[in-house]
Amino acid sequence: MAKLVYFFGGGKAEGDAKMKELLGGKGANLAEMTNIGLPVPAGFTITTEVCTHYYDNNLQYPADLKAQIEEALAKTEAVMGAKFGDTENPLLVSCRSGARVSMPGMMDTVLNIGLNEATLQGLIKKTGNERFAWDSYRRFVQMFGDVVLGLKPQTKQEIDPFEHIMDELKHERKVENDSDLTVADLKELVVRFKKAVKDRTGKDFPEDAREQLYGAIGSVFDSWNNDRAVVYRRQYGYPASWGTAANICSMVFGNMGDDCATGVAFTRDPATGEKEFYGEYLINAQGEDVVAGIRTPKKIAELKKEMPEVYAQLDQIRGILEKHYRDVQDIEFTVQQGKLWMLQTRNGKRTGFAAVHFAVDMVDEGLITQNEAISVGRIPPDDLNQLLQPIFDPESKRKIIAEGKLLAKGINAGPGAATGVIKFFADDAESYVAGFKADAHGNRSPESRVILVRRETSPEDIRGMQAADGILTAFGGASSHAALVSRQMGKVCVVGCSALQIDYTARTVTVGSTVLKEGDFISIDGFTGEVMAGQAATRPSEVVSVLIDKTMKPSESTTYQKFARMMEWADSVRKLKIRTNADKPEQAEAAVAFGAEGIGLCRTEHMFFDHIVPMREMILAGSVADRKKALEKLLPFQRGDFEGLFRAMKGKPVTIRTLDPPLHEFLPHDAKGQAEMAAQMGVSVEVIEERVKALHEFNPMLGFRGCRLGIVYPEITEMQARAILEAAVNVKKEGIDVEPEIMIPLVGFLPELKSQAKLVHETAKKVFEEAGVTVPYQVGTMIELPRACIAAGDIAKEAQFFSFGTNDLTQTGLGMSRDDYGSFIRSYIEGDIVPKDPFQVIDFDGIGGLMKIGVERGRAQRTDIKIGICGEHGGEPDSVKFCHRIGLNYVSCSPFRVPIARLAAAQAALENK
Ligand code: PEP
Ligand code: MG
Repeated sequence: MAKLVYFFGGGKAEGDAKMKELLGGKGANLAEMTNIGLPVPAGFTITTEVCTHYYDNNLQYPADLKAQIEEALAKTEAVMGAKFGDTENPLLVSCRSGARVSMPGMMDTVLNIGLNEATLQGLIKKTGNERFAWDSYRRFVQMFGDVVLGLKPQTKQEIDPFEHIMDELKHERKVENDSDLTVADLKELVVRFKKAVKDRTGKDFPEDAREQLYGAIGSVFDSWNNDRAVVYRRQYGYPASWGTAANICSMVFGNMGDDCATGVAFTRDPATGEKEFYGEYLINAQGEDVVAGIRTPKKIAELKKEMPEVYAQLDQIRGILEKHYRDVQDIEFTVQQGKLWMLQTRNGKRTGFAAVHFAVDMVDEGLITQNEAISVGRIPPDDLNQLLQPIFDPESKRKIIAEGKLLAKGINAGPGAATGVIKFFADDAESYVAGFKADAHGNRSPESRVILVRRETSPEDIRGMQAADGILTAFGGASSHAALVSRQMGKVCVVGCSALQIDYTARTVTVGSTVLKEGDFISIDGFTGEVMAGQAATRPSEVVSVLIDKTMKPSESTTYQKFARMMEWADSVRKLKIRTNADKPEQAEAAVAFGAEGIGLCRTEHMFFDHIVPMREMILAGSVADRKKALEKLLPFQRGDFEGLFRAMKGKPVTIRTLDPPLHEFLPHDAKGQAEMAAQMGVSVEVIEERVKALHEFNPMLGFRGCRLGIVYPEITEMQARAILEAAVNVKKEGIDVEPEIMIPLVGFLPELKSQAKLVHETAKKVFEEAGVTVPYQVGTMIELPRACIAAGDIAKEAQFFSFGTNDLTQTGLGMSRDDYGSFIRSYIEGDIVPKDPFQVIDFDGIGGLMKIGVERGRAQRTDIKIGICGEHGGEPDSVKFCHRIGLNYVSCSPFRVPIARLAAAQAALENK
């Protein structure tokens, strides 16, 4: 019979940390902590295989499960010296879910299982503490009722029946805190709670300890498929087949008196990365009180004063855990009558800042190697975004504070500066943000940014949190839901800002005499925890200040220094080159500062937009001669632009693409614009109207664009080739190396490329003769049509390089318009039709398959052909890794994504060693 239950306790466990897939993260680490001699209350883990069996077999458990549970329970009883269900000396247990990765949304913990009217008496006798016993009992009835019997409301509008009863009783007794209730009150609560259970379920609250235990275990496995868990799994791409484990652990009590406590901590600061013990605790409290935000917990440093011996032991365990796990740990502990118990350890979630600090510090401490420091488990590449995020402009912030707009200070839980309009409900935040669009450069207006302001957050709020720029809560500490989730998402976050009075009905937040309404601006500083009314201006990050703005010296920023060291380690292992998509010298310079090794795509159409009048003359020209005249006006502008780029890149390769967008994008569509062009060109408005009409297309993205323009109007390609090569000649004369790569877009047929390449070569010959100087150059092509992938062998006869345009390749390969797919893609992702947005992450099987064909056929024809990618996917970590795997030479992405691509490329190299 398969082993379904793993015991831990008494210094020995049947499992260990390596068994996360079978025991879940929580179970595996409880076993590991037991094995390394830390004080863990005895218990057992029911494996994830039981969960998968349950779902594969019509919700039936394996036949042997019960016997194995009973055996493990007996061992637990022996170690703890108490008996489950015993009326004299009762053992109580907790039950928790635990998948291989920590997953919000599954069953909440149930504590104090095994309590009933009879065992309660045993607990009173054993502890001599009647109040504690009754308090534990009323908590148990509530938790079990909510979680296992399903009384917990599913929507925010409904009220938890137990909370309602509690509020009523407090009102009747005219007391404010739960702790003010007497033993008699607690007894009354239990009576009312049980009545609520009977009223709602039609059944009595279960008195039998085993019925309670098996009920809780069943709820763990049921919760694996609840809506929240399913949504979370989908978001992170975790398969349903993983299943969850269930952990049964002996209870230890942090609520037996003032020599008891419960707490959560990180072995280092998970927000800033500082090497400081970071956490919080509550005296005389149980389990979830710390994270629930009912009482504001104390900082861990105070425990040193309140319980010096416990603190010393905890601090020692902190060191043991870091050495053992070689990573920062997130721990839970309980102190029962002066004795410390460890209830959980796991790798701590961290901000991008903290990730970089932890990784570099741990290399310096000799705990990990450089290659480990840059692994994806320690630094997911996208988290580097946080180091590149803006901070508040100090002047603007000082001004806002001087105006008396500093409202309050909460706990700084997620670094960065965020300013936006207030929304109180996650759904509102989500729909509000969806109503705005970023501009072509990805910039968003201040009005489109939201700060989600809540008393606390819960898993239902995830989407609203994702949409918001910042999260602000009135309750909870650094380990509350809001804090953990924000940190993971890289959102600016301030929690536990208790001065905020939030009225969800009136949709206001009040601090003293200031009342802010929904829609008002608010600013939060995730570094300091400050909350300000109004809009504070933001300013670039330290890394950006050092590298781009040069407003800080490297020596002034430890964050920059650590970032730079980590990037060096990444560069030493990566195989992929990193280029950037840039059209302007300043963009190119920024990208080089971030580590770009060349330009992978210069979209020349941006240059045409800057000189729209001659451009329009060119398009609307009635004859070749007129068109050439207009092109002559454009030539010097283009040449100047290219000279700027070549100078900025100082000899690094520069790929310049010939004109690509549909011509109608440049046309004047309004009467005023058309009249202007008529005057400019000396023709009637009617003529212009006619020509604009003639250029109208039903489906411009599949119309007259890309190389098709250069085939119909060869003079455009000639002018561009001349501008590029004259610029190259001029810059070379200045003593700067230059080797332009001229790239032809939207090629599907070899003759298309041949015709364009011929124009370039003829132009080059002329330019070099005129100048008396020659520069090396190449002519290559975008591979962005399915036909180009299939015909890559043929195309490589002419192309000296390939660059995958995965934006168009995705559009044409999937038959999904890149401009219109937004209306249905969410349904596709939610319906598990596609795993991710294919315009963000390469559709590996489909579009990726086409790319593989392109690479294989291209290289078969021309073994040394250089192949890159310049679609948006070139800066997305999973896509970068895919590009490494299929053997591309480089990826090209926007300047601010260059560091992310460098790290992803390094991880790809290490992962595929
Ligand atoms: C592409 O199609 O991936 C590409 C880089 O070109 P553009 O986005 O300009 O069409
Ligand atoms: Mg394209």
